[in-house]
Amino acid sequence: MERISVVTKKRTDFVEITEQIEEIIKRHNVKNGICFLFVPHTTCGLTINENADPSVRRDIMEKLEELIPENDNYSHTEGNADSHIKSTITGHSLTIFIENGVLQLGTWQGIYLCEFDGPRTRQVWIKIIPTT
Ligand code: ZN
Repeated sequence: MERISVVTKKRTDFVEITEQIEEIIKRHNVKNGICFLFVPHTTCGLTINENADPSVRRDIMEKLEELIPENDNYSHTEGNADSHIKSTITGHSLTIFIENGVLQLGTWQGIYLCEFDGPRTRQVWIKIIPTT
């Protein structure tokens, strides 16, 4: 298993990690396979979305904030109940195919770590599984 650290800069922050994942795949020299990504945290997540226009990311963050505000009538009193909910919505893992050594993302797709309770240093765990 590989691990990377991702430093987030704000309470809510989407950090693109596509290049780091592509470097790991190159280093493993896998022709065909599956790349599995996982975050071992309860207040951040992973997602794939557009990496061309940054306003897409901003819209996602703002809409999540509108739907799940930081302050509401939550039972969890740690002050980050909204972060836990947003983390569950985005999910904690991604599975992406590798073909001929290349991560199979769509033209406009990038991989993002979604921070919902930053700034912090987060871990992403990566498993590269070769297939035929
Ligand atoms: Zn909490």
